[in-house]
Amino acid sequence: MLNLEQCQKKAVCLIDVDSTIPNLALMKISSFFKKNGFYVDLKKLNYKGYDHSKREITIIDGSQYDKVFISAIFTLNKNTVVVNDCIKVIKGGTGYYGSNPQWLPWEIEHIYPDYTLYKNNNYSLGFLTRGCPNNCKYCFIPKKEGRLKEHSPLDEFYNPNLPKIMLLDNNFLACRNCIKLLKKLKKTGKKITFKQGLDFRLLTKEKAKLLADLDYDGEYIFAFDRMSDKPIIEKKLEIWTPLVKDWKTKFFVLVGFDTSLEQDLDRIYFLKKNKCLPYVMRHSNCYSSENKPFYTDLAAWCNQPGLFKKLNFIEFLKKRHVTRERYNQTVEIIKKHNLIIH
Ligand code: SF4
Repeated sequence: MLNLEQCQKKAVCLIDVDSTIPNLALMKISSFFKKNGFYVDLKKLNYKGYDHSKREITIIDGSQYDKVFISAIFTLNKNTVVVNDCIKVIKGGTGYYGSNPQWLPWEIEHIYPDYTLYKNNNYSLGFLTRGCPNNCKYCFIPKKEGRLKEHSPLDEFYNPNLPKIMLLDNNFLACRNCIKLLKKLKKTGKKITFKQGLDFRLLTKEKAKLLADLDYDGEYIFAFDRMSDKPIIEKKLEIWTPLVKDWKTKFFVLVGFDTSLEQDLDRIYFLKKNKCLPYVMRHSNCYSSENKPFYTDLAAWCNQPGLFKKLNFIEFLKKRHVTRERYNQTVEIIKKHNLIIH
């Protein structure tokens, strides 16, 4: 990637296949090449990760570029781009490499991102830490990134001209320096958000206070993936709830992996009772499960906060399904599993 001598055209093309936020890796590659006198072209495609319908192929004319970089986040999208007439096409992202990533060279990974690449971006973006000390069976982060370590100091990616900061860390609260880092974030005076779920089990009074003191952008997002975490989440809510407004806290709730439908509903009702929002994350098992209609409806209910707060699940089903047939599919599953709906 770094052999620039043979580059005649002094131009690179960056293809963002499916990012839902500005693609940090491409912003860093852009910085690196611009610094070396290259023209950088971004092509933003809009493939969706969860849409299983047939993909149309996008054909890119690569003849004007020395190198073309393609980044895909979702595996479903990895075959969506064909580049013609360019001998150096470099692919990256979890869509291509899953848990065996191709890391950027150090001098690109730690370069200041090119914030001009994406118009209308409001965020300084980066990873203060990478990795995770846990080893959840359904997650590839520990395999991909290894044990938790500090990754970039805030200054490496902080842009004082942008109003917000988005942290992409996977388990920030597990970092032994997280208190220091939270204070540093507070000092910027910017709106802050952690894109991935934070680990609620690791909250202490001090961490909770600092986190709640941030000018937080959107809801605080944590994870409630395992049924066995309910007692500790209940305990930590005693610290957390007095510090934040009702419904300002959201929990990712993994379903379809190793929990029963009853346990899924139990976690969801528990969150509702505590004025927290669930965000149902369907494991890929859900899509081939005989309970698929139930999972689909559960996610549709929980992941629309306005409807979730206003309607119970049955009311939601009646509103959602105009045909009796589809409504009955979910109701039959509810009956079969003796689920209590309230
Ligand atoms: S705590 Fe989060 S990031 Fe760490 S292994 Fe579990 S799911 Fe993955």
